[in-house]
Amino acid sequence: MSLAFCCLLAFTLIEARQERWERAGQGAQNLAQAMADDIGRTIGSLDLSLQAVVDYSRLSDVMELPPAARDRVLFDRAASAPELGRIFLLDRHGDVVASGGAGPPVFGNFADREYFTLHRDKASDAVLVGSAFRSRVSAQAVFAVSRRVPAADGSFDGVAIGTVRLAPIRTKFEAVRLGPRDSMTLVHEDGTLMMRAPYQAAVVGSEVSHSKVFRQSVAASTGTFIGRSTIDHVERFHAFAQVPGAPMRLIISHAVDDLEAGWWRQTTRAGLGTVALVALACGMAWLLYRELQQRQRAEAALTESEAGFRLLAEHSTDMVSRIGPDDIRRYVSPAAVRLLGRAPQDLVGRRPQEAIHSDDLDGVASAIMSLHRGKTEEAMLTYRVRHAEGRWVWVESSVRTVYDPRTGEPDGIVAISRDISERKVAEQHLVELAWIDGLTSIPNRRSFDAALEQEWRRCRRAGGSVSLLLIDVDRFKALNDSRGHQHGDWCLQQIAASLRSVVRRAGDVVARYGGEEFVMLLPNTDAQGATEVAERLRAAVERLALAHPDGGTGGAVTVSVGAATVLFGIAGAAECATDLTGTADRCLYAAKQAGRNRVVHAMCRLADQTRGQPVKMQQEA
Ligand code: GH3
Ligand code: MG
Ligand code: MG
Repeated sequence: MSLAFCCLLAFTLIEARQERWERAGQGAQNLAQAMADDIGRTIGSLDLSLQAVVDYSRLSDVMELPPAARDRVLFDRAASAPELGRIFLLDRHGDVVASGGAGPPVFGNFADREYFTLHRDKASDAVLVGSAFRSRVSAQAVFAVSRRVPAADGSFDGVAIGTVRLAPIRTKFEAVRLGPRDSMTLVHEDGTLMMRAPYQAAVVGSEVSHSKVFRQSVAASTGTFIGRSTIDHVERFHAFAQVPGAPMRLIISHAVDDLEAGWWRQTTRAGLGTVALVALACGMAWLLYRELQQRQRAEAALTESEAGFRLLAEHSTDMVSRIGPDDIRRYVSPAAVRLLGRAPQDLVGRRPQEAIHSDDLDGVASAIMSLHRGKTEEAMLTYRVRHAEGRWVWVESSVRTVYDPRTGEPDGIVAISRDISERKVAEQHLVELAWIDGLTSIPNRRSFDAALEQEWRRCRRAGGSVSLLLIDVDRFKALNDSRGHQHGDWCLQQIAASLRSVVRRAGDVVARYGGEEFVMLLPNTDAQGATEVAERLRAAVERLALAHPDGGTGGAVTVSVGAATVLFGIAGAAECATDLTGTADRCLYAAKQAGRNRVVHAMCRLADQTRGQPVKMQQEA
């Protein structure tokens, strides 16, 4: 576009230059013609006067009149103009016969003048316009216009001659406004420079026939050309016109540099402006190009990264979902089929809280709300969701707030969810392993310790009594030894089951304490209640009638029970759970000592007061 613009400008400027030249040419031509016509009219009017002189001089009536009357007739039709000098009638010898125009009569001989010799030697009636010379009469620079006076037989009889003064022509030339290096020139075909503006005395009347400008000017009657001046060596544009009825050319010359100066100014201005505009346009185009390139690169990178992220999301085994700020799912990855048995399009447009287990719903809803509000940035949620097949799936979701890069405001949530059902089962199993005894499937020692600790704290706050039973299988080693450990294990399972069957209250805890020892925690149970339960335990095991090799106990497996009760709110009550266990242990020892298969109970008091033997035995088998 810039190039096209430059070409258009160049074309316009070239056209403007041509137009300038044409206008200048026309102007110069018209001026040359007008000035030439003016001089031609002067010569023409003088010629009319001369023709009258010639005509009258051939009438003897006129010539024989007295001089004053004769002159009046002869010069009656003489034109008067500032350029016109005097008119003379010369006889065949060149002597002045009569003189017209203002001034005294002139006498003299002009036979030496060129106009005289030419008319004398050449029998032509045509008017002769000569070149410049200095008048002997007026001492002014003039040129002559003359006609031959023929005798009755046609022979040479004299010359009628008038002069045209060059000074008024100079005035006329100078009245025309020309440029500082322009010129206006009047040349005679014989090579004489007759007048020039600007005026130079040395140049007017000089011989210029050698100059090219002169030669080209006289080659035709009118025309234009470019040539260098021999006077001041300036190259000029010349327009010339022939002076009508005279062998003269009027030449108007304009300096080429001046003619083109305006055009050059215009060209320079337009050129500089165009260069600036083109530079600006090119600069802007370059900026635009760079901007476009950057945008293209950014778009390509974005497309690539988008494709990359989509690939990650689509091929991830975890379900990736995007939730909008209105809490509606915008995107769900294909892993939804595996996780929930639902196609992504079934989930898009729905709220994430749908199908969540009612127990987990509150937690999930409040976490999502605080993410939407920007209170938290990320969270790890574990909850149950209903699978398309109807079962519950444990799901763990890592959720994170997404921020609008322009405003910095929260703009939804991204969640990555995975199925953790198997992990949940394993966790449950681990919990069981940690808290349940592997052999008897009742709570283990750890469970019991935790339950005792909790119950102890509760009672310290709320008051009341707690009882604890320690149960030990009698002479179990002997059973093991005689029937083997496997049978022993089986017996332990039977005993555990029967102990559990005795427990009626929901808060009661039966646990395996270690080896062939069991323990029972009885919250809100006083001494009497504890002894009753202990006795029921003992009797229940006895009723199992598990064969024992030692006949000392009636051939059946039996247990001894050490029972202890603590009553909070009375002076001297035990300060820690260990005191209660210790008391029960001492009671158990006492039961063994007393012969086994029995219950020994004691109230638990401050450690220093209860040191040694149990204080009181409630019941003995
Ligand atoms: P007593 O308590 O009446 O004084 O006699 P005891 O034979 O029961 O004596 P003790 O408490 O010293 O022996 C406990 C025995 O119980 C030792 C061990 O052989 C047996 N035992 C401990 N744990 C297990 C177990 O898990 N399985 C089996 N089969 N036997 C066990
Ligand atoms: Mg034991
Ligand atoms: Mg034992």
